[in-house]
Amino acid sequence: MLDWDRFEDWTQGVEPQISGLPDLSLLGPPTPRPGQVFAIGLNYREHTAEAGYDTSGLPQVFTKFPSCITGPFSQVSVVSPRLDWEIELVAVIGRSGRNINEANAWSFIAGLMIGQDLSARDVQLAGSAPQWSLGKSFAGFGPVGPWLTSARDCPGRDDLLVECELNGALMQSDRTSNMIWSVPELVARLSSVCELRAGDVIFTGTPAGIGNRRKPPIYIGPGDVLVSRIEGLGEMAVGFTAA
Ligand code: ZN
Repeated sequence: MLDWDRFEDWTQGVEPQISGLPDLSLLGPPTPRPGQVFAIGLNYREHTAEAGYDTSGLPQVFTKFPSCITGPFSQVSVVSPRLDWEIELVAVIGRSGRNINEANAWSFIAGLMIGQDLSARDVQLAGSAPQWSLGKSFAGFGPVGPWLTSARDCPGRDDLLVECELNGALMQSDRTSNMIWSVPELVARLSSVCELRAGDVIFTGTPAGIGNRRKPPIYIGPGDVLVSRIEGLGEMAVGFTAA
């Protein structure tokens, strides 16, 4: 990751030699220890409306503390009675930079993967002002994967179908072209404040259909399976166990 350009050039000359599929359940997160984890709230219009906000202004930015990052087929402990899902496109930084130009932003991105911004709504919304970062950072609350797809090799990277199923029922379905702030716009905005560094990840926001805005609300419980898929990036399946 620290020398992504050279790594990607090297892959151009390599013939894959794989016989059969490996055991996918053994996969860990493609970015096990990101230095910074940026997360964007309210980046799809329908979700912004269901959450009761308007779409004007700047992207809402928070962090998921890096110790919550886990693999794409993890078992996550149900530590909250209001545990909720948020499928998100996750961009991984491949080249460090500050004040990155929007037109140039894709060249700073190593690749794309799927992420779940799992959230304990009771902790997130406790107190007089929301605790977004803490409520979204329990152990296992940041499954990512199943692998990193090079941004170069991802046709239609600005318009990917994003879907999330809980126990086989479709909960979220939208396209990344409906994001209010695109990946290049987010890179430009974040890098105007923070230096983005190779290996950092950006959770780019979730579409409508989360559990706590449903009537009645639906939350994740022990034994549930959460499947997340994004066109061209694969599929993750996270299981849940009693705390
Ligand atoms: Zn989110």
